[in-house]
Amino acid sequence: MRLSRYFLPILKENPKEAEIVSHRLMLRTGMIRQQSQGIYSWLPLGKRVLDKVNAIIREEQNRAGAIELSMPTLQSAELWQESGRYEDYGKEMLRIRDRQDRPMLYGPTNEEMITDIFRSSVKSYKSLPLNLYHIQLKFRDEIRPRFGTMRSREFLMKDAYSFDLTQADAIHSYNKMFVAYLRTFDRLGLRAIPMRADTGPIGGNHSHEFIILADTGESEVFCHKSFVDFDIPSVDTDFDDVNGLQSIFDKWTSVYAATSEMHDEAAFDTISDADRLSARGIEVGHIFYFGTKYSEPMGAKVQGPDGKEHLVHMGSYGIGPTRLVPAIIEASHDENGIIWPASVAPFDAVVINMKAGDEACDSTCERLYAALQNAGKDVLYDDTDDRAGTKFATADLIGVPVQVIAGPRAVAAGEVELKDRKTGARETLTIEAAINKLT
Ligand code: ATP
Ligand code: MG
Ligand code: MG
Ligand code: MG
Repeated sequence: MRLSRYFLPILKENPKEAEIVSHRLMLRTGMIRQQSQGIYSWLPLGKRVLDKVNAIIREEQNRAGAIELSMPTLQSAELWQESGRYEDYGKEMLRIRDRQDRPMLYGPTNEEMITDIFRSSVKSYKSLPLNLYHIQLKFRDEIRPRFGTMRSREFLMKDAYSFDLTQADAIHSYNKMFVAYLRTFDRLGLRAIPMRADTGPIGGNHSHEFIILADTGESEVFCHKSFVDFDIPSVDTDFDDVNGLQSIFDKWTSVYAATSEMHDEAAFDTISDADRLSARGIEVGHIFYFGTKYSEPMGAKVQGPDGKEHLVHMGSYGIGPTRLVPAIIEASHDENGIIWPASVAPFDAVVINMKAGDEACDSTCERLYAALQNAGKDVLYDDTDDRAGTKFATADLIGVPVQVIAGPRAVAAGEVELKDRKTGARETLTIEAAINKLT
């Protein structure tokens, strides 16, 4: 992408409405624009990051055996009347009427709709286990939308729904998502801690919120420090290995971690002072086993091996991609701007032409730009005639992991400079060597 032809509406000043660093940086770098309260456009730079986050989520969902579909944003109120949640949901639900005066709603979540899809076509236990997911917009009329896309009214959610014949099978499905989440957040450059969460009227030990520790987080959390050293399940984890997954779950839930709603002061006090962490956190994911809560009122049954009909056991599993993007920024920035982990960076590298219009600089940059692109890299080429200082500031601000700097003196010697955004380390390499290193 040539910057001269790109749409990167960078703000010079810090926007006043932004209270936290991620919101400030997302506005300054032109990643997002608020269209009305808590409703955002994702501008090209932001869209690139969001797509990369979604791609990682999708890969890990698929690896764990979940299957992607796509459900609509608008739902009929009827389904929600069946489950009993239409009245319960309250003001967070945006209720709409169509021209025939039928009650509709903008979906805040999809348990009812997926249960309807399931019951319409699955009749036998032989089709189980089944886990269906989508990555789709949701709407919740939050009382206090704030911090940009961290808590917006319209937001993206990856929501998966599992169906099993028995509770034991459902726990295995739950563990698959538990492991998939550990891997997903790790690949996004985050250390997310699974914390026991409120299961509401269902009870049991089977709801976890995945929390990123951050001073600006809205949740109050309490945990043991040892989470920092736990190993992330490897890429070749066998998701069909019931005991293997259970032991990963057991390990990750063996030490204390709870949000304020579930906090047990007495249990927390037994941890030594040095190992005790009381902090703030951002909820980036939430998984839930809820048994027959929806299958019962909505009649989602399958025929079991015994020939009898059984209500299916369900779970649901959410991740918030549009919250994850600011969460990553909260975890990774400095005074000059964002520092993207390579896995979600909008561009892998930025080629900075320090003297656009100079024949040698132009041809060197064109060569680098073509070579990196041909190797399948996402490259931004700053070919504008801005001052070098402005270009460096922009590159730092938008947080591209590697800067390839081509100035007249280096280029005359057949060289360019590479700068690592995170460490600031610089090295001078021949053009050839730079291309080899980056491809
Ligand atoms: P919160 O406690 O922050 O209100 P929630 O518990 O209501 O979130 P869930 O119903 O568990 O949210 O939804 C699953 C995931 O969707 C959350 O873990 C979060 O990542 C994301 N999410 C929920 N609400 C929002 C929102 N208003 N803006 C952005 N992401 C959200
Ligand atoms: Mg909420
Ligand atoms: Mg919550
Ligand atoms: Mg939640």
